[in-house]
Amino acid sequence: MMEHMSFEVKENIPLSGYSVFKIGGPARYFAIVHNEEDLLDVLCRAKEKNLPVFILGAGSNILASDKGFPGLVVKMDLQGLYAAEGGKLTAESGVSMARAVSESVKAGRTGFEWAIGVPGTIGGSVRGNAGCFGEEMKDVVSRVAVLDRFSLLKSVLTNGDCRFGYRDSLFKHNPNFVILSAILELAKGDALESQKKILEYSAHVIPEASQSELFTDGMLVAGDAGGLLVNSGVTLRGVDMAIASGAAAAKATKNAFEKNDFSKKSLSYYEELLKNDFVLQDRETFKKAPEFLQNERLYTMYPEFMCRLFHRIALVNGPKKRVFDELLEETKGKRTQMFLDMLRALRAV
Ligand SMILES: Cc1cc2nc3c(=O)[nH]c(=O)nc-3n(C[C@H](O)[C@H](O)[C@H](O)COP(=O)(O)OP(=O)(O)OC[C@H]3O[C@@H](n4cnc5c(N)ncnc54)[C@H](O)[C@@H]3O)c2cc1C
Repeated sequence: MMEHMSFEVKENIPLSGYSVFKIGGPARYFAIVHNEEDLLDVLCRAKEKNLPVFILGAGSNILASDKGFPGLVVKMDLQGLYAAEGGKLTAESGVSMARAVSESVKAGRTGFEWAIGVPGTIGGSVRGNAGCFGEEMKDVVSRVAVLDRFSLLKSVLTNGDCRFGYRDSLFKHNPNFVILSAILELAKGDALESQKKILEYSAHVIPEASQSELFTDGMLVAGDAGGLLVNSGVTLRGVDMAIASGAAAAKATKNAFEKNDFSKKSLSYYEELLKNDFVLQDRETFKKAPEFLQNERLYTMYPEFMCRLFHRIALVNGPKKRVFDELLEETKGKRTQMFLDMLRALRAV
């Protein structure tokens, strides 16, 4: 359908590969654009075909449906990044926030270090007025270049035009605007000071989708972050885990203080405390539950089965039948399947 394009438009590409949370079914069409011409080209053709379009950055703020997306997903991979005199940094929309931070420090500028922990692109972050540690994109963005998806006209907006609010902007309310690039205006800084700030901010960054260790020499990952790490892939009792890990981390730190030993070995007391905690014991008990819960029949066949069974039992249409007979009738042809699912359920808990 879109085979004559100057760059590749793929078909039925799973969005799980392009979202931080690794979920999402296939995009009917999927294109990665590296420059404005490609973008214009692909949008033009999508318009001709009347296809719905979704603009994608780093996929750190989206949850794509398992059903996928019936139109064209355009991944913005415009990677231009230029520092100019006067503290101006022009970043194209596909540039990662971390890369823009690094470039701003290299250019001797300050005021953008906070963005090191935002795992998105400039485009996605301008749209959402991303922020961290009390600072936001609105504090640094002076101009935004946009392309209107429908008129295919380009324009440049001022900070005021962008109508930034808390995690809000004009772009959230006008999805026809595709962000091409932004100019950030930053103050003169000291690279060493900026590096220190980046280190400080990075300490609060949570590694994504990892099963990292919770402690090492001189460091414990506690509270929400600990809960997130231990629970990646297992969402049961995530909040309890965050609370329990905070309490255990406090005890382990106190113990390390008393011994004046912050080595990995000493901090492993944290793990010992966690293992004895009811939350982790529950986690061990239920560790097979997520796999079991992936069984589609739990959400389709069994609820329908229960509804039909209750309907049969409750229906007044002649002499009363025995519940057991109704059960036998309703489970006809499905008993082996149900028996196996029951075994799986028992194994899961
Ligand atoms: C672990 C983790 C930590 C996070 N920390 C923070 C944080 O501290 N502060 C914070 O504010 N957010 C945070 N976020 C959320 C997210 O990283 C930000 O919202 C980020 O700015 C999204 O950028 P993105 O490129 O990933 O956008 P995507 O997730 O790809 O897209 C988000 C939205 O922006 C639109 N979009 C993307 N690019 C463009 C473009 N070029 N033009 C027009 N629309 C576009 C998309 O259509 C979509 O609607 C965090 C997320 C995670 C997973």
